[in-house]
Amino acid sequence: MNKKNPRFKQRSRGKFFPAAILLFSAILIFFGIRLAGCLFTSDEAADGDAASKAASSPKRTINKDIADKVNKIAGSSVPPTSASLRTKQETPLSSFQDCYYYESANREGYTRYQSLNPEMPPDEVVWRVNAGLDGEFYTDITDISNPNDLYVVVNKRNRLSSSFIPDDMAALPSGVSARKDAAEAYRRMAEAAARDGVIFIPQSGYRSYDYQNQLYTNYKATDPGGADTYSARPGFSEHQTGLAIDLNIPGSGNLRDFVGTEQAEWVSKNAHLFGFIVRYTEKNREITGYVSEPWHIRYIGAEHAAKMKETGIISFEEYKVKYIDHQPE
Ligand SMILES: [Zn+2]
Repeated sequence: MNKKNPRFKQRSRGKFFPAAILLFSAILIFFGIRLAGCLFTSDEAADGDAASKAASSPKRTINKDIADKVNKIAGSSVPPTSASLRTKQETPLSSFQDCYYYESANREGYTRYQSLNPEMPPDEVVWRVNAGLDGEFYTDITDISNPNDLYVVVNKRNRLSSSFIPDDMAALPSGVSARKDAAEAYRRMAEAAARDGVIFIPQSGYRSYDYQNQLYTNYKATDPGGADTYSARPGFSEHQTGLAIDLNIPGSGNLRDFVGTEQAEWVSKNAHLFGFIVRYTEKNREITGYVSEPWHIRYIGAEHAAKMKETGIISFEEYKVKYIDHQPE
């Protein structure tokens, strides 16, 4: 400041003091907010290393928000409260509660998953946490308590007991078996396809825990880095439910021969009419952890298979949360 210049003093004294008070207040508020921000951030990081790393990104966002807030404060005399700061940092519970598939038992999970994924919309946080997708593949494992349920979700986080065998199995061609309803639906589907001149065969249906163990062990031995992207570990295979069937073209033993065929196209277009969904696609790879498998169909009944097609939901994990566990109003 040019305090030595008497002309400056004389001309600006009347305006100088209010301006200085405003600036001083803004500085005080700024440091107060910074301190509060740091305190909240250390709370978050207390969960461990992973949480601490993930929290660094929201912290940067928070500091930018604080800077914006301070800029605004110069023009508004309302100081921020710790409650408004917390709202900035954590998605309010009401954002999760607005989802019709909100489950109060998961409220802490929503908050934790949102803090790890600050850019994710709250409604996506809710269905992902409900579906168990906030856990790691083969690390955060849930033992399935309803293995006979038509809508059971078996994936890299949900495990079937090694002793589980469905008790209503029926035979299909090629020595393959599946649960009764799935087998009947398969027969109707194969007949309808044949009427369109399209022929496929079931290459694999129900697989026991021990058989899956052999398959996975062999894949893992020859392809240690890639096996998990196309083969389920024992207990984690949908084939053990008796509700999954792998299709192939006649005369081939290699499922990859099914890719790009007229059979694959027919199945993709029509399987839902018979209650099947194509379970692993390029679009849902991040959710399922498997590469695209146009040959692997899963029976969920015609009503839900049609509904899933209609909604365009890309994974059974998401669909089950939104249309089976809960229904929209
Ligand atoms: Zn399969």
